[in-house]
Amino acid sequence: MATGAEQLYEEILRRNPGEPEFHQAAREVLESLGPVLAERPELVEARIVERICEPERQIIFRVPWQDDAGRVQVNRGFRVEYNSALGPYKGGLRFHPSVNLGIVKFLGFEQIFKNALTGLGIGGGKGGSDFDPRGRSDAEVMRFCQAFMTELHRHLGEHTDVPAGDIGVGGREIGYLFGQYRRITNRWEGGVLTGKGLGWGGSPVRTEATGYGNVLFTAEMLRARGEDLHGQQVVVSGSGNVALYSIEKALALGANVLTCSDSSGYVVDEKGIDLDLLKQVKEVERARVDVYAERRGSSARFVADGQVWDVPADVALPSATQNELDADAALTLVRNGVKAVSEGANMPTTPEAVRVFQEAGVAFGPGKAANAGGVATSALEMRQNAGREPLGFAQVEAELAGIMRDIHTTCAASAEHYGCPGDYVTGANLAGFNRVADAMLAQGLI
Ligand code: NDP
Repeated sequence: MATGAEQLYEEILRRNPGEPEFHQAAREVLESLGPVLAERPELVEARIVERICEPERQIIFRVPWQDDAGRVQVNRGFRVEYNSALGPYKGGLRFHPSVNLGIVKFLGFEQIFKNALTGLGIGGGKGGSDFDPRGRSDAEVMRFCQAFMTELHRHLGEHTDVPAGDIGVGGREIGYLFGQYRRITNRWEGGVLTGKGLGWGGSPVRTEATGYGNVLFTAEMLRARGEDLHGQQVVVSGSGNVALYSIEKALALGANVLTCSDSSGYVVDEKGIDLDLLKQVKEVERARVDVYAERRGSSARFVADGQVWDVPADVALPSATQNELDADAALTLVRNGVKAVSEGANMPTTPEAVRVFQEAGVAFGPGKAANAGGVATSALEMRQNAGREPLGFAQVEAELAGIMRDIHTTCAASAEHYGCPGDYVTGANLAGFNRVADAMLAQGLI
């Protein structure tokens, strides 16, 4: 790390205690910045890096609500409005018991650079709550969402801050959140949330976009090496939104997907994952992955301990949560001949594991670039809402494919320019950083 960056990192540790995920995300970006800061002293003088690391605004609030038994529950809500130099704050809401300020900050920080890479005029933000929707009735989820939005609404707006889904926040939650926003504000403001239902302002392909985009990015990385996805064995972790649609696109491109997982364990299916059955279990019944294995018959087995990374594969798509793929898992994948790893989830690969892949010459797609298809399609949804002109599935899918190709080209060109060809981590960090830094410099000291 460059000397100034090392000092800044020390300062970040001192001023943001107890936030290891944020420290990890900041360190990863700071480690890349040396070549840019050497090339552009004006950024050092304007203290752009220090300013980017500090959120523009952080909101923490109480969310009181009543469960089905009439008991009062109290959760904590967060929204970190990180950087709006390129456009309104944009980034999802996560509902999971592990959510705290450090996790929301890491996600918001990553989001700044990811959104910049899309080239679509969106700033970075993230939010959520330590509310756990698992095991809650629809009525409880609705009351929680209404209570959450009752406070959050005053900070949102289609030109201000535009949340979407993330872990624990899918179509059902977005519906309840939008309904409450509309009720409080008496405005039908479609562009205030993305991931809406198709009948009321949502965009085709938004549901599929993160998973589809990650697989398209993987295909681009393979293409740069003279290969494609056809016939490749793929391991996917998770069985939520990103995992399901990664599986769908990988199958469409002729790959064979062997695994999926959730926090209870993983499934390996020798015949390849049956996506219809998995969607029925996870999306319709909201059941666990062991139910998939039970119904699938002898080709599938549920493994309660262990990880999908133990299964030999050509391509690995971590699509569940942060730090789910560590150095030991990376060494196992490399020993088993993995060629490409691409992050559907945010920061699923530990820094040590990233180094293992890079040293082994594995094509590694960082989440900032590889999973940007979701937020890019959210920006298309905002455009559709602003123009009041619904878009068709094929049109959005074609735009998404073009955006993912462009992101790949941008990252590859940036890596090449800064002397590390094939290093998509550095390429993504520096290309995203430069776009945000240029806008901040032009807009003065704010
Ligand atoms: P979902 O809630 O739909 O699915 C999350 C999946 O990951 C579930 O299978 C869940 O299992 C598993 N999971 C979550 N936390 C853990 C954990 N601590 N340990 C093991 N498994 C876990 O979320 P998404 O698919 O939307 O998000 C997945 C990842 O992708 C996240 O990192 C998110 O930030 C990232 N992402 C999502 C985007 C989107 O458009 N949705 C956009 C860009 C990135 P269980 O049900 O057992 O908890």
